[in-house]
Amino acid sequence: MEHDCTFLDELLPSERYSLGEADRASRAGDWGTPEDQRVRPDAVVWPRSTDDVSTVLEAAHERGVPVTPYAAGTSLEGNPTPVFAGISLDLTEMDAVIDVRPDDFQLDVQPGVMGGAIDEAVAQYGLFFPPLPSSGDISTIGGMIANDASGMQTVKYGEVSDWVRALEVVLADGTVIRTGSRAIKSSSGYNLTDLFVGSEGTLGVITRATLGLAGVPEQIRGGRAIFPTLDDAAEAVFDAVRSGVDVAKIELVDELSATMANAYLGLELPDAPMVFLEFHANHDVEREIDFCRSIFEAHAVDRFEMAGEGEMDELWRARKDLAYAVQSYDPDLEPIHPGDVTVPISAYPAIIRYAKDLAAEADVMVPCFGHAGDGNVHYTVMVDRDDQESVETAERVYADIVEKAIELGGTSTGEHGIGRGKCEYLEREHGTDAVEAMRALKRAFDPTDILNPGKIFPETVSPGGRVRLPSED
Ligand SMILES: Cc1cc2nc3c(=O)[nH]c(=O)nc-3n(C[C@H](O)[C@H](O)[C@H](O)COP(=O)(O)OP(=O)(O)OC[C@H]3O[C@@H](n4cnc5c(N)ncnc54)[C@H](O)[C@@H]3O)c2cc1C
Repeated sequence: MEHDCTFLDELLPSERYSLGEADRASRAGDWGTPEDQRVRPDAVVWPRSTDDVSTVLEAAHERGVPVTPYAAGTSLEGNPTPVFAGISLDLTEMDAVIDVRPDDFQLDVQPGVMGGAIDEAVAQYGLFFPPLPSSGDISTIGGMIANDASGMQTVKYGEVSDWVRALEVVLADGTVIRTGSRAIKSSSGYNLTDLFVGSEGTLGVITRATLGLAGVPEQIRGGRAIFPTLDDAAEAVFDAVRSGVDVAKIELVDELSATMANAYLGLELPDAPMVFLEFHANHDVEREIDFCRSIFEAHAVDRFEMAGEGEMDELWRARKDLAYAVQSYDPDLEPIHPGDVTVPISAYPAIIRYAKDLAAEADVMVPCFGHAGDGNVHYTVMVDRDDQESVETAERVYADIVEKAIELGGTSTGEHGIGRGKCEYLEREHGTDAVEAMRALKRAFDPTDILNPGKIFPETVSPGGRVRLPSED
């Protein structure tokens, strides 16, 4: 599976690519790639401009060398892991904020800009970029667009795709195209912008993006509610959302996750189900808070507390550091694949109940938390990797929860993408014909399958072999 990448010598100055062991090893996987599935690319390239990207793609396309875009590598499904080696195209040096247009609530950026840097660049205008994921400070806008990320504020503001106005994209053969416009709406032609959002680097390489921005609300209030049972908490979230409570964040944390957060952060919260809340408004925020409180009271809430001035970070800590708390809870147990199912909000209590019942039945630890207002559950089955039976049970529990979410009208992945980890659920979720339509698009944009091969489509993943598209059979 090795590809000769010495042709890069003629294309780029030596500091913009590397065939060295350490650089290749550092791009062999993302946060979610287990050690035994890491694959070193044959070369790492750091483009500094759209021209660099175009030149490399044109040459790679001619030679049939795979190119996998790589940004901050915080994906959780192996999305930027170069499973067929070739070139890892590291976009992190294309990190300029190009233009801020506060009057239009817009800015233009290169793909390697970190999420937090966007908010820093526009804060002086009283603006912010609302759909940042929880990983906003450690991931890039290119990675967020390619995965169609979303975060805690999606319940009010939507996901990344709702905020991408226009893109510059380099296609597989090096052609540079522009999609969308600066207008807030358009009915002109196919919506190529939305096609590239969420395409995980399999259709083109994003080299520039025009993003929408929102005004920072005048009033921001955070709080936390503690419930006697997880059922009460999940029903309360559903009731609040369907009743139209205008909430900007509404996050569920089950009792096991609360225990883990307590242990990790040395907190003394009750080991009880909790809902973390944040309200954004320009006036009358208290009315919305009272509305939410009254709904939660109808679901037996034990404690409903709002943070005072300067207390919000402290109140929210248990939620913010959960990913790390879960990972470090028990040295003998490892989290298997990070669950990311999302269901229609009416099915939220059902998916939470299903996950917890299954965990109890299988006698495994499954902490559940997530962006509840979107119907999202992050769950992690904890496993002793040295115990084969425990691994098999954990895999079954993990998969059953995904299947259940799809059965309830939801999706296998609300925000992390398909990558490599969720390939097997694609057809189950969309049906054979819809997946064939996706494949037709892939063939149209990338006929020789050099862009991030081995991702999204289940049958193209053939470990140890070159990707095969149906047209090659
Ligand atoms: C602690 C933690 C918390 C997280 N929380 C969230 C969350 O709340 N919400 C959420 O949605 N995700 C979350 N994630 C997942 C991850 O951070 C996001 O998906 C993020 O957007 C990935 O960005 P990245 O810069 O790390 O991209 P990478 O992981 O490097 O790449 C992501 C994908 O994009 C492609 N790509 C990268 N750049 C480009 C480009 N310029 N053009 C085309 N394709 C490109 C890659 O090939 C790959 O397929 C979390 C991850 C961690 C580790």
